[in-house]
Amino acid sequence: MPISYPEWSLAHCQLLSRFDQRWPRIAYPDSSNDWAYRRWKVALGESEREAIERFLNAGLLVYCPVPEQLDWGFTLAQLRGFLRERGLKLSGKKVEIVDRLYRADPAGMERACAVVLREATERWIEWDRSSATESAGAAALRRGGVGCLLLKCSEPGLRLVAEYMTVEEEMGRKALDALRSGDFESAISTVLAFEDELGFPTNPMAPPPEMAAKVAREEVPLAFAANPTILSGVSEDVMGCLRFAAAACCLSVLCRGDREGKCFVPDADLIKGLKTGLKMENEAALHMIIRQVKFQRAKETWKRMRVVRRVRLCAIHRPDLGLRPCQACAELDGREWPIEEVPDLPYQYCTSKLGCRCIAIPISRPG
Ligand SMILES: [Zn+2]
Repeated sequence: MPISYPEWSLAHCQLLSRFDQRWPRIAYPDSSNDWAYRRWKVALGESEREAIERFLNAGLLVYCPVPEQLDWGFTLAQLRGFLRERGLKLSGKKVEIVDRLYRADPAGMERACAVVLREATERWIEWDRSSATESAGAAALRRGGVGCLLLKCSEPGLRLVAEYMTVEEEMGRKALDALRSGDFESAISTVLAFEDELGFPTNPMAPPPEMAAKVAREEVPLAFAANPTILSGVSEDVMGCLRFAAAACCLSVLCRGDREGKCFVPDADLIKGLKTGLKMENEAALHMIIRQVKFQRAKETWKRMRVVRRVRLCAIHRPDLGLRPCQACAELDGREWPIEEVPDLPYQYCTSKLGCRCIAIPISRPG
């Protein structure tokens, strides 16, 4: 279904969708030193702030009214402080308190909100200053430009966002249907065509689209064939669901936009309520399939490279994140094997309820 606002690109719609909450959202000045700024500028053909100003002029975004700004910017305790200063009744829910304050002192409340936004702008300037060169937003502010804004979608804005979400969901559904029917190539090209239209550049940390497509082409079939021993005992039906969800995850490597493939994020919809019979949570079980896929693909790549002779397995020790290897994984930690003999990951004897988090490191010296 085409979007009925031809003057806005898909990327513009995605940007607008950030404000789709019927709840204020803060828009910062443009930080041209930021990678996020550059990718949006490529996708939009203008900066984020320029697009936001056009949304405001077109009535798709609106400034939040003062009561909503009060609700957004102040805690209940702070609002009660305002009541006390004005000798007003202290009781009631937040929305009632906001209403009481705004009725009693609209100008004072508007000033209080302006202070909060000014403080947010000052924090942004402080953060932006950490980069070497002055950003576009900072330069605009120095010339007297507007700082942080508190915005939300208008009704027409919400309608445009809803249309965009439908387009995105339809793409996701089409890709998943193709995946389900075994037509991996069509699943990949569906996502790629959508991403091309969105027009985000490739993150320097991520593979370019043709490389990402190659990765997906290798990973999707591996996901459908995955059978990690750590999941033994899981019924074939449930394994089928987990494999399908893992294959869908592998497609998200193709997504470069801000929503990163959330239209087919499978851990939310596809695996909720599955009965694996394991101690592991469903998300961890899904992750075990993805781990096996990644490990097998890495091993194939290393074999093709020929210089990799050995593989070292390492357990993850991150007590700060609550990650400690189980006994079995701790015993693997730091050991090396010839590439043909390395144990499969995820490690089949792992007993962690988060699943095995061990990683493999290729070693190029001959062993
Ligand atoms: Zn373990």
